[in-house]
Amino acid sequence: MELLTIGIDIGGTNFRIGTVDAAGNVEDFESHSSAMFRKEDAADVLAHVILGYMERYALRGRIRGVGIGVPAVVSRDKRLVRSAPNLPGFDSLALPALLEEQLCLPVFLDRDVNLLLRSDMHTLLLEPDKTVLGFYVGTGFGNAIYLDGGFYAGKNGAAGELGHIPMLDLTETCPCGNVGCCEVRCSGKHLEWIAKRMFPQTPVRQVFARHHGHPALERYVRDLAVPIAAEINILDPDCAVLSGGVLGMPGFPRAILLEAIHAHVRKPYPAEGLDLRFAAQSPQNGVRGGGMLAAEQLNKAVPRTARPVQAASGKREFL
Ligand SMILES: [Zn+2]
Repeated sequence: MELLTIGIDIGGTNFRIGTVDAAGNVEDFESHSSAMFRKEDAADVLAHVILGYMERYALRGRIRGVGIGVPAVVSRDKRLVRSAPNLPGFDSLALPALLEEQLCLPVFLDRDVNLLLRSDMHTLLLEPDKTVLGFYVGTGFGNAIYLDGGFYAGKNGAAGELGHIPMLDLTETCPCGNVGCCEVRCSGKHLEWIAKRMFPQTPVRQVFARHHGHPALERYVRDLAVPIAAEINILDPDCAVLSGGVLGMPGFPRAILLEAIHAHVRKPYPAEGLDLRFAAQSPQNGVRGGGMLAAEQLNKAVPRTARPVQAASGKREFL
């Protein structure tokens, strides 16, 4: 019987879980509200939910490990959730260690956007030794940096906060507290604001389809290109992946976004031969990325005969 991993994607709104096989296929997929994780006992609730899920699909003995994505800063060693404004129940929790105690399985953690890019690289058949940037325009502006064969985390695990680079002449305050972050304009939240103000009769999801060519929408799309081109100019990637709920809306003007990115990217390089790809958004992508994270870490670190051992620090480690 093939051993599987469990992938989990915990967003500010939805909690998604599924099993992932060695080929990256997602099965037994479920989606629930994330509201249950808003309180202090979030880790216990999550352990309970995972155990119930394993029971429901008779998965005991078939799971190698669990990979979890959270919309938060994750410490460089990937053992601690830091700064999770959308999921305060997980803030400052050593989530993998707490879950390993209860599940008796190795648990791996990463930022949600890193799991999305992992999944997109798999789907787009991008080679693992490349430099790939992921841009995810959803409620906010998510960014993942895959640099020379690995995800870049930075000193605090806070690298890739592209939504919070300052833009000239912006005076609005961002939910992060700073003034003038690009996310104030480059986000689904801002699109919602435009839609309510200018197209009150149109559901937000339909604004591009129904108001094609409107100057306010064209300006919005051109603004999205600014942080994307900025990071491309800094890192000269092999490929940049464009995705997220906003880019997946019906009628989203892809050609305008591509043209605006090219306009801002330095010539002749990295503009020449720049590989920009749209990736289809699916609720299963984060789950696939979580399962792949667990499989990747287990394949890297666990010889077949290894067992969990008690480390000198008292923390359970998987060697
Ligand atoms: Zn900000």
